[in-house]
Amino acid sequence: MLKSRRVAVDRLLTMAALGEFDLIKRCFVRALGSRDADGYARHEQDAAGVVLGPGDDGAVLAPRPGHQLVVSADTSNVGVHFPADAPADAIGHRALAVNLSDLAAMGAVPRWYTLALTLPDADAEWLDDFATGLHRLADLHGITLVGGDVTRGPLSISITVMGEVPAGELISRHGARPGDVLAVTGPMGGAHGGLELWQQGQRDMGHPLIAAYLLPEPRVAAGQCLRGLVSAGLDISDGLWADLGHLCLASGVGAQLMPSVPVAPDLATATESARDAAVWHGGDDYELLLAIAPGQWDVANEAMSSIGGKLYPIGECTSTAGIHGGPSSAGGWQHFAGDAS
Ligand SMILES: [Mg+2]
Repeated sequence: MLKSRRVAVDRLLTMAALGEFDLIKRCFVRALGSRDADGYARHEQDAAGVVLGPGDDGAVLAPRPGHQLVVSADTSNVGVHFPADAPADAIGHRALAVNLSDLAAMGAVPRWYTLALTLPDADAEWLDDFATGLHRLADLHGITLVGGDVTRGPLSISITVMGEVPAGELISRHGARPGDVLAVTGPMGGAHGGLELWQQGQRDMGHPLIAAYLLPEPRVAAGQCLRGLVSAGLDISDGLWADLGHLCLASGVGAQLMPSVPVAPDLATATESARDAAVWHGGDDYELLLAIAPGQWDVANEAMSSIGGKLYPIGECTSTAGIHGGPSSAGGWQHFAGDAS
């Protein structure tokens, strides 16, 4: 009895026992060139452009000459953006992935990020898993953690990402013109399908829809290879319909949609209108939505092919305001298009 209690206490290292400083160092400070006696980076500048890394009052970073800095922040709250019983490594992955998706949308190369983590307690095993998911995705995209903060409270993860684009080559929401082809980088509705499966008790992280929901893959390579080839773009976080509205509003154009868009292959809904709702309003798909001048279509497609991707046309930009066409059930959605007109 006594022994099992000790094991439980060992696993649940309270914030007070471990200390914020040790906790950060234990889970999040990683190799950053040479280190001082405390294990913190303190050197001229390493290959990642870090002059001064975690452990001081602020990080000092060195963007490459001729580049502009792209900065974006996104918070993920338990019960709002991810379920409380999601695996810790998936929570770490997803929190960074949704931020990387914003860099992807701008055509930026990921460079650095900061992490502000709020935890109800400091379960060492949970933290190790969370850090594993976070670091695995960070390594995949070559982005370096340069600072952060840990506080006590309901689980919440705030990440700020920083990336670079060659000066003047960023992708924004503002450049779409009438006649541009509207396209997405992948099928829609998978994340919403995964959310519904999770709510029904499905816990198989290998299921394609669960993976689409909890382990999204930000289209970082697509954003970079499409720089200079697209008129405008953004990532699809709020839902295809809403984000199309954002692009149209920013560019001062409307949209004429095809009757259908690519649907996540495993999405199984009871009705056609439920499928359309998942595809157009589900959100969290983290594909890119792009406007491409007809003359750039072929070369943009070739660029996507070169990274193993594909562009799926869904309609075209019009000089008439508002979103028109789309699936037959879209007649009931026109109120969603209000901010696009
Ligand atoms: Mg975005």
